[in-house]
Amino acid sequence: MRFGLILAAGRGERFGSPKQQALLGGHPLALWSILAFEQSQAVDLIVLVVDDPSVEFFEYQIKMREIEKVEAIVPGGKERIDSLIAGLKALPLEGYVAVQDGARPFVRAEEVTGGFRIVEKKGPAIYALPVTDSIKRVENQVVIETVPREFLYRSQTPQFFPLHVLRDALKRAGEEGFVGTDEASYVERMGVKVNILPGREENLKITFRQDLELAEKLIESGACP
Ligand code: C5P
Repeated sequence: MRFGLILAAGRGERFGSPKQQALLGGHPLALWSILAFEQSQAVDLIVLVVDDPSVEFFEYQIKMREIEKVEAIVPGGKERIDSLIAGLKALPLEGYVAVQDGARPFVRAEEVTGGFRIVEKKGPAIYALPVTDSIKRVENQVVIETVPREFLYRSQTPQFFPLHVLRDALKRAGEEGFVGTDEASYVERMGVKVNILPGREENLKITFRQDLELAEKLIESGACP
């Protein structure tokens, strides 16, 4: 079976309020990802992780829109890793999972489908984009060095894993006190190969209020979704 795990909890400190209920193009932000996963033919079931006070709100949204694949809505935790673990508890031991930032509204159903195809054939896979800016290492507002960018990529979501691989990697990370910024970082440090799929600039993550304004403009101009 293939599962979508959509992470949409957290306090949205940089955004200024819990952002997943903020409206984008008339839909609550997290709903965009849910709809893309619902539309992907590869997805059997979806688990949604939201902050505790939002559980009822999303139960209502999903019922009202007759979304069929959402199997469970579970409360997240303080950090992203806590939300990830809470979501994984609602999933079986075997199968494949696509972990998605609920804050990336413009993921496409065909990207979800394509990612599952790759993880089943080649193992873990993530969408990522080559870095095009010059990257500086900075301390106390002073440049220490320019980091060669030829091998640098920015990772996006969804990220695809066999469930047992992600679980084993998280167990090891827990034992060793490692906390990653994305799911792939747990798997990489186990020596497991993570394949790169072509990311898109438009698959942006809404972090600050300006990002929501930009996303709104992309919808208005017809560039997204
Ligand atoms: O904080 P960041 O921007 O990396 O969040 C990425 C995604 O992880 C967001 O969709 C957010 O809702 C989710 N998240 C979560 N639980 C947290 C923190 C973040 O589900 N405690």
